[in-house]
Amino acid sequence: MHESLNPFEIVQQQICEAGKCLVLDPAIEAILKEPKRVLIVSFPVKMDDGTTKVFKGLRSQHNDAIGPCKGGIRFHPDVTIDEVKALSMWMTFKCGVVGLPYGGGKGGVICNPKEMSQGELERVSRGFIEAISAIIGPDKDIPAPDVYTNAQTMAWMMDTFSRLKGSNQFGVITGKPLILGGSLGRNEATAQGCIYTIIKAAEKLNLTLAGATVAVQGYGNAGFISARLLHELGCKIVAVSDSCGAVFNEDGIDPHLLYDHKRTTGSCINYLNYKRITNEELLELPVDILVPAALENQITSANAARIKAKIVAEAANGPTTPDADKILYANGTMVLPDILANAGGVTVSYFEWVQNLMNYYWSEQEVLDKLQVIMFNAFEKVYESSKQFQVDMRTAAYIVSISRVAQAIKVRGIA
Ligand code: GLU
Repeated sequence: MHESLNPFEIVQQQICEAGKCLVLDPAIEAILKEPKRVLIVSFPVKMDDGTTKVFKGLRSQHNDAIGPCKGGIRFHPDVTIDEVKALSMWMTFKCGVVGLPYGGGKGGVICNPKEMSQGELERVSRGFIEAISAIIGPDKDIPAPDVYTNAQTMAWMMDTFSRLKGSNQFGVITGKPLILGGSLGRNEATAQGCIYTIIKAAEKLNLTLAGATVAVQGYGNAGFISARLLHELGCKIVAVSDSCGAVFNEDGIDPHLLYDHKRTTGSCINYLNYKRITNEELLELPVDILVPAALENQITSANAARIKAKIVAEAANGPTTPDADKILYANGTMVLPDILANAGGVTVSYFEWVQNLMNYYWSEQEVLDKLQVIMFNAFEKVYESSKQFQVDMRTAAYIVSISRVAQAIKVRGIA
């Protein structure tokens, strides 16, 4: 059978894999395989040229057995219902792996932010949050940034929600600017958490990070900051890409200089005399560490056998398909699954929400220390479970996570 690239079917398959190991109650498995609620909204936005355009947005709430739903909002032309559903499910399991008191949610607006002005982005952000305002709130569902949304987007959304409620509602959204109740360390958190898992994986594989070679796919928040932090640890970043293509330099790339180049020219390519390669070629480079930090379905059965990295650290959500997972596992590649590797983002979102609720703010060091403890513990738990059940790290992460969610569903008497 041809492998499915539909993320919703993929996450269902991942649940089944872990369910088999756990001998999961079929009723609980059935509950976990569907989101609890998906809201589809259409909302009009005045564009700069005077026309009014109707945008479509979605918010999926997968499960709230352990706590309110939590997860980002992405702005992207390719957003689909199945993608948002899958992403909300991955959020439940992500929160479960690191032990946060949340379930999963995810939102998306079908739009192309690259073609929109700041004013248009602001009006889309405000329009969307107003359209989904009935189902979100600090104790219901707490959005955050995701692909092509950032602290500014969160500020507009928080402001609109607060106006609707008649009082400041800082706890409704995370990833906000510092001045509006954001947390120190939140901007770097996804990458920082990913680095903590890479440090642990390198330890297990006896890989020395100083001098280790790295390829990073995607140069947004997670990709750039992962490259920066790995560079600080002494790794050699040999290739980096964005949606325009990739650059390769055997002697290493300075992540800061490349970031400046991307900011001024709009992309990573055409930088110095670095060799131009494709995104596909980047994935297959003979590097020690590969960090997919872009979109879903990048490593599939078509290219998995050619992946040479010892560690694949999924800063992105859903970059590897189940068929590819099997090939990588058979080849001895250690995949640090998205729900573990990129859980640092939602973990510091949790810290931000906690700080908002108590109106007392932590130092950056405090945030980083707490994040490190959570990521190291989660890694060890998943690693142990992979040894115990003789499964890959993804299935192990699902086992850890599903056990928690299933327990909550059981004791609540839902199933
Ligand atoms: N969008 C991020 C993710 O996929 C962060 C979610 C959050 O902070 O709630 O994990």
